[in-house]
Amino acid sequence: MNAMTDKPAILGGKPLHPDPFPAYITIGDEEKKAVMEVMDTGVLSHFYGSDSPQFFGGPKVRALEDAWCERFGSAHAVAVNSATSALMTAVGALGIGAGDEVIVSPYTMSASASCVLVYNAIPVFADIDPSTFCLDPQSIRERITPRTKAIIVVHLFGHPADMDAIMAIAKEHNLAVIEDAAQSPGALYKNRETGTIGDIGVFSLNCHKVIQTGEGGILTTNNKDLALRAQLIRNHAEAVVEPMGVENIVNMLGWNYRMTEIDAAIGIEQLKKLDLLTETRLQLTNRLTDGLKELPGIIPPYVHPDARHVYYVYAVKIDSSQCNLPRDLLVKALALEGIPFWEGYTEPLYLQPLYQKRILYGDKGCPFTCACYDGDVSYKRGICPVVERLYDEELFLTEICRPPLTTEDIDLFVTAFKRILVHSDEIQASVT
Ligand SMILES: *Cc1c(COP(=O)(O)O)cnc(C)c1O
Repeated sequence: MNAMTDKPAILGGKPLHPDPFPAYITIGDEEKKAVMEVMDTGVLSHFYGSDSPQFFGGPKVRALEDAWCERFGSAHAVAVNSATSALMTAVGALGIGAGDEVIVSPYTMSASASCVLVYNAIPVFADIDPSTFCLDPQSIRERITPRTKAIIVVHLFGHPADMDAIMAIAKEHNLAVIEDAAQSPGALYKNRETGTIGDIGVFSLNCHKVIQTGEGGILTTNNKDLALRAQLIRNHAEAVVEPMGVENIVNMLGWNYRMTEIDAAIGIEQLKKLDLLTETRLQLTNRLTDGLKELPGIIPPYVHPDARHVYYVYAVKIDSSQCNLPRDLLVKALALEGIPFWEGYTEPLYLQPLYQKRILYGDKGCPFTCACYDGDVSYKRGICPVVERLYDEELFLTEICRPPLTTEDIDLFVTAFKRILVHSDEIQASVT
């Protein structure tokens, strides 16, 4: 018997890994101890929504912000209760509003585009690069209009976007750049930390991310004024602009996006673990790439020579003409071996009902049909052919290429691919 050529489970063979792989647990004694210290103080949040020193949060929130600045080399960090809040805060702090357009990626978590709508501005979707899955600078250029105010870049799956090209376009057209680094803490572009290259960076600490506080987010910026505006939006800006003497009151309506002391205490401990967790992830993903790269029709993740990819997820492309299997059959066969992959990632965002029907605030078409908006944005199928092809046909991914899996586990992944590909004709025949 040869493990590589044994009958795959989809043809009745024995599954390679019948039990589920272990969960990703990074919470340990360090976090428990830190939480108990906060509990012992009895004060779980120090924020006051008034003009006072406590307006900026308690000791753990500030310590997390300081640690974040230190680790990523940012001048300011503002801790909030999610990356979604951080994205909305970023758009608000930049003064974006009704009638403005913001260029966004369609291949991301929905909030990286919907944050624009919260300020009555219009998301304009540009296409992505088929190798990095991040915004394609050429497509950004084609979408610029006199109404464009900003670009929201997503470092998708942990691979940095082409920041030099994007920052050059932004400079040329006087646009702000927000980096959604929710999936990329520790990813580097030309040795620079993602999330610190544009005007504002956004990180997520939700429970699915590389490090987490359950829910949480961090906004980073090197601009003091933007940092203050973000702190105002985090905490009921409208109530404090007058006593605090804030003159620019554009978008100075605040919310409660505050982070608790408990979450901040957990975040401080999690941040200390980021680099080791990422190193382990890289050992596993590099081994998987080594195992997959010679297989026909299987295209492992691309890494640009100037990039450090941190593999929040491991995304693969299939060329069915080379491996003689459509994506759905390959993913099904892998699942039956016990190796979980998903097809397509997320549907291109512009296909969501909100964009297709242009219904959001009330039922009169606002903000898409609005006296302030004189543009003509399109959300038709076909506007971003690269994303549509990746979603419909080529891309599949796994989230479990991370600790506590071992290199032996990863070798099983490779064996599964080989077993399935060797039998591709029989697998095809079995379903037709
Ligand atoms: C997870 C994620 C978000 C949102 O993060 P939350 O903290 O859950 O709000 C935003 N953008 C991207 C790219 C993400 O992966």
